[in-house]
Amino acid sequence: MTEKNQYTMQDPREQYPLHNPKANDSQPEPALDKKLDPKADHGEESYQGAGRLKGRKALITGGDSGIGRAVAIAFAREGADVVINYLESEEKDGAETLKILKDTGQQAYSIVGDITDEKFCESLVQQAADKLGSIDILVNNAGKQQFVKELADLTTEQFQKTYATNIFAMFWITKAAVPLMPAGASIINTTSIQSYQPSPGLLDYSSTKGAITAFTKSLAKMLIEKGIRVNGVAPGPIWTPLQQSGGQPEEKLKEFGGQVPMGRAGQPAELAPMYVYLASQESSYVTAEIMGVTGGGHLP
Ligand code: NAD
Ligand code: MG
Repeated sequence: MTEKNQYTMQDPREQYPLHNPKANDSQPEPALDKKLDPKADHGEESYQGAGRLKGRKALITGGDSGIGRAVAIAFAREGADVVINYLESEEKDGAETLKILKDTGQQAYSIVGDITDEKFCESLVQQAADKLGSIDILVNNAGKQQFVKELADLTTEQFQKTYATNIFAMFWITKAAVPLMPAGASIINTTSIQSYQPSPGLLDYSSTKGAITAFTKSLAKMLIEKGIRVNGVAPGPIWTPLQQSGGQPEEKLKEFGGQVPMGRAGQPAELAPMYVYLASQESSYVTAEIMGVTGGGHLP
């Protein structure tokens, strides 16, 4: 570990480089963190746990890379046992994340599979509960984002796949998980600033994120009867493989994040503390909220 951790006071503008001057060319979707240049920070060297999730059991989708990896590392360092899910093609990233999780001494497992399949979603939840003994925290974080310049180029296939990944899977996984979740449990859905300030070129993606925001609030009101809290996190521009595999037009990658007041892209590590807060009992009176982590882009 370096001396700096998430508590070290510093100028947030200079905490990470402005823009991504070396940002390399696109990768095929879904992209790997292994090939991301410059590298993203998931808190591998810096996140310091303080027992905030001691004994909790967490299922995190898209936990191999990006925001999901940062959340998984933080949860494990805070004392949670963790199951991560990701696609078979992401095994390299998944294995690397799993190693970091196991190094904490917590129980950590990966369950590989495609969440656009309802049956797999049900089996993912069941397998996770079998391995962990409970599901106290569910992080619906997996997502698909493909930039398309013209409406005419947006195929039905892409539209359906984006909806299946971002919103149908969230419904299927949540529906399967809720009966296994005790009072005090927390569900956290990754939505986006795109839910509030949708970009042209992300018609399918931004509309799923709008759906996730409403889904989160509606579900929260439904599940508080069981003592389960439901919240969302809306990230701004964060440097992850998602952006480098067609999430942005290639020519925009170098300046990615430059438009927000902070003047730079965020790093996955900067998201993790918000998920820890929403997962832990510290946020006991917080439900049906969407928390922005946007570099100043802010939610309405
Ligand atoms: P990422 O590529 O690292 O993570 C996305 C993950 O989704 C992948 O690792 C993959 O495991 C998973 N996934 C995609 N399709 C899947 C499928 N069919 N089955 C199983 N898993 C699948 O990128 P990220 O940016 O960390 O994305 C995490 C979340 O953050 C997504 O919901 C994304 O929409 C959201 N988000 C990202 C940004 C950003 O700027 N990076 C901004 C706002 C919201
Ligand atoms: Mg990945």
